[in-house]
Amino acid sequence: MPTFHEYVEKHGTVPEWPYPIRYDQESEISADVLIIGGGVAGCHAAISAARQGAKVVIAETGHVKRSGSGGAGVDHWHGACKNPCSKVTPLDYTQAVMESANGFSNGIARYITCSEGWDTLLECEEMGVQIRDVQDEFKDAIFRDDETKLMFGYDYKSRHVLRVWGGNLKQCLFYEMKRLEVEMYNRTVVTSLLTEGGKPGGRVVGATGVNMRTGEFYVFKAKATIVASGGAGRLFSFAPELTAAASMSTMNSAGTGHAIGFDAGAEFVLMEQTGPGRLAGFGYAPYSMGNAHNTFHGAPIVDVNGKEVPWVDPQGRELQTIDERFLPVPGNKFQLGAGIGLYHYNDEYRSPDLARDLPERIRKGEFQLPLYTDLTRLSEMERRCIFGMMVGNEGKTRTAIYATLTKAGFDPDKDMWQAPVMVPEGYTHANFWGGVPLPHLRGLAGGGFLVDWDLRTSLEGLYAAGTSPVFGAGCHGESHTMGRYAARKASAYAKSSAEPAIDRKQVEAAKAQAYRHIKPSKHSVGWKELNYAIARVMQDYCGRFKSEHTLKRGLSLLHELRENEASTAYAANPHELGRLLECFSLFTVGEMVMHASLARKCSSMYLDFFRLDHPQLDPPEWAKHLPMRRTNGKVQFRELPLDFHLKAPYASTYEENYQRHAR
Ligand SMILES: Cc1cc2nc3c(=O)[nH]c(=O)nc-3n(C[C@H](O)[C@H](O)[C@H](O)COP(=O)(O)OP(=O)(O)OC[C@H]3O[C@@H](n4cnc5c(N)ncnc54)[C@H](O)[C@@H]3O)c2cc1C
Repeated sequence: MPTFHEYVEKHGTVPEWPYPIRYDQESEISADVLIIGGGVAGCHAAISAARQGAKVVIAETGHVKRSGSGGAGVDHWHGACKNPCSKVTPLDYTQAVMESANGFSNGIARYITCSEGWDTLLECEEMGVQIRDVQDEFKDAIFRDDETKLMFGYDYKSRHVLRVWGGNLKQCLFYEMKRLEVEMYNRTVVTSLLTEGGKPGGRVVGATGVNMRTGEFYVFKAKATIVASGGAGRLFSFAPELTAAASMSTMNSAGTGHAIGFDAGAEFVLMEQTGPGRLAGFGYAPYSMGNAHNTFHGAPIVDVNGKEVPWVDPQGRELQTIDERFLPVPGNKFQLGAGIGLYHYNDEYRSPDLARDLPERIRKGEFQLPLYTDLTRLSEMERRCIFGMMVGNEGKTRTAIYATLTKAGFDPDKDMWQAPVMVPEGYTHANFWGGVPLPHLRGLAGGGFLVDWDLRTSLEGLYAAGTSPVFGAGCHGESHTMGRYAARKASAYAKSSAEPAIDRKQVEAAKAQAYRHIKPSKHSVGWKELNYAIARVMQDYCGRFKSEHTLKRGLSLLHELRENEASTAYAANPHELGRLLECFSLFTVGEMVMHASLARKCSSMYLDFFRLDHPQLDPPEWAKHLPMRRTNGKVQFRELPLDFHLKAPYASTYEENYQRHAR
């Protein structure tokens, strides 16, 4: 088969669209449980619902076999508090997260994850994922338990983070879904939710979608629906042609689940919380450059003269040994571990890190660039675990990093791994491959559907699962576990609920909305220009530092773009049509972020949220959620205590709520 370039050279033109075009052709698909998004949360939800006997349909923009952030692998599984070696209880972990976030996180999601994350991982093992050192490759290593053969990450004493061989995890889920006869609609972008009587705020009875190859229109009719569509990676930065573009999120990450939920009248919280977007497009490919973070936690960093950068404990005291990097500091409770959607850690749960004044010390000439990761200074077990086991199973590393470096002759026993050369601020965070943190490049952080102890949203029949659709959550294990849990609840609801009735008028409106972009002049803008313009407005008007004037101006610019350029934007084929429809979701999510930012009239360290016109940091009267929804075209807010999940109508303890709802 010729490459694209060879084809164009030979024929002098780009190839014809290779699939039959079926615009306006409609199919109706019925399910007990419909799942929107087939990342790990969606796939595990599908398996769980099918095992409950439900007829399950899953719709996915990519292909479920490899789609989503976890599609290309995973190397550490957080929150496995009930694994036989863990010394951290679900309550310890949940409280550590909630204390660190000053309440701005999700106690429900964390407690569920810690209570059944280990069971969820065991299910993955049954499906074919290696979670133990079965070959005894790391026998006698200090990060391994010889009886269970489990291997631990971050904190070798507390043992609640497990190192796993998750390179094939997504395929294992895919084959299990096939075995259970889950109906899969790949290359399908879901574009709206359907509600009873077509009314916003009513029971959700399904969704609409467009096939991105044929343009066919789908009406999914479902007794219960689970949104598992991930975050909105393309909201603040969009540079698909750059190497490592959107490196920590998938190209399909366009906030559609949030947008269609908001359009349907669901409530959201924490949409004002955005985090540094250093992982989204302007850094380097994940784990492709020397660093000391996450997969590389504990790795020695040296400068060009071989001088080692000190590691420090959470109080900033220099550590004397490598082993101390993997233990809680005496007197501290345990290391929570990074990469769990948490933007602030209390010292007692924080992991040791590189000296925090490294940028300053580089500026003064104490350390000279380039820096390197020197794996030769680690024990052989640690070294082989990082390069080979973790780099090799971690997302996006198997082929792009491990195979490429190995083929090129990289030998971790001898060679060092260069970190990117950046301005000193680039070394503020040990995750060097993320590049220099730019204050205007942000990413959605904790914002998502407000959920209850059933992971049900504020709308009847609609559940949420996974990183981002659920507020204040985020990591691989958590996504699986929430999917598994939400699906149990959704299937139980589906069993007892009435047949869904689709409102034809609502379907026709969604259809007209979807197809209007195949009609305008071919000279109008396309989805890429539009996506870039949205990202630019978000960067300029909703960066790290915000104010009422800039946010309001940003909102009006988004409105103008939507009404003018976007309304006449053109899609040349079903793929472009799908991408264009995603841009409309980005508009909505951008508006949600700006409205929520306007509503919070203070600044917050815990939310990494800074209002230039309201600089007071975390005043106690603003320690509350501000649930938002749209009613009759107006965005409305109310107030909710941060610990609402432990207040009436819920029980006052985590365990009691879990016992009441989990089964
Ligand atoms: C390189 C990398 C390494 C990582 N390593 C780790 C790790 O070691 N440990 C860890 O805990 N976490 C890790 N993470 C994070 C972890 O992978 C994610 O938290 C997790 O995979 C999120 O899963 P999800 O199913 O909730 O969301 P996603 O993976 O975002 O899946 C959402 C799915 O929905 C689909 N979708 C979106 N919109 C629509 C629509 N409108 N219609 C239909 N489908 C739609 C998308 O195509 C996607 O497949 C890593 C992430 C990356 C990128």
